[in-house]
Amino acid sequence: MQTTILVIEDEPSIQELIAVNLKLAGYEVLRALDAREADAHIRTALPDLILLDWMLPGTSGLRLARDLRAEDRTRAIPLIMLTAKGAEQDKIDGLEAGADDYITKPFSPRELLARIKALLRRRAPQLTEDPIQAGELRLEPDARQVLGRGQALPMGPTEFRLLHFFMTHADRVYTRGQVLDQVWGDHVFIEERTVDVHIRRLRKALSPVGLDAYIQTVRGAGYRFSTSAAA
Ligand code: CA
Repeated sequence: MQTTILVIEDEPSIQELIAVNLKLAGYEVLRALDAREADAHIRTALPDLILLDWMLPGTSGLRLARDLRAEDRTRAIPLIMLTAKGAEQDKIDGLEAGADDYITKPFSPRELLARIKALLRRRAPQLTEDPIQAGELRLEPDARQVLGRGQALPMGPTEFRLLHFFMTHADRVYTRGQVLDQVWGDHVFIEERTVDVHIRRLRKALSPVGLDAYIQTVRGAGYRFSTSAAA
């Protein structure tokens, strides 16, 4: 699944430069020239990360950052502010408005990509290619491979994404609705019991090496990934 980045920047040449570099790095890019265009994208589907210019015509980037953070649906989107301003007070304003990071123009594409990677690693590790080890289980995103006690465990793409999400969010309980949003994407209209179907398949894929107990049902709440025994 490709990581989608929404670039909100009103200067076409800068927008183009950013978009070209993001695409080269393997990201899917959505573009908006102002807050209104950004809204239209966000209503259709949540991006995985937003690059937001401070100085926009109409609604300012700062205002838009506050609005995104005030709304439940958009609150958790990783957000980097772009700006020509370098003053300390502006950085503080941006971070207080809810930006996760801040990058001052002019910046090099390499710096931008490094910041994006660092932020995704921090906020959405299931979107990175970093291998993850949890207990006896190892997941290698670039090789699309899961190893349990050293043995390759074949599974479908949905089970793989589900496991990737769980392993990067271990020991936390997620409702079926949250799992749908995180693994299938929000605004995808599928029934919650679909999650149960894929949980069953995932357990089955882990069972040859006896690791299906890592996927735990929390009665009345949802599911949790944990390498320690279910309570
Ligand atoms: Ca601008």
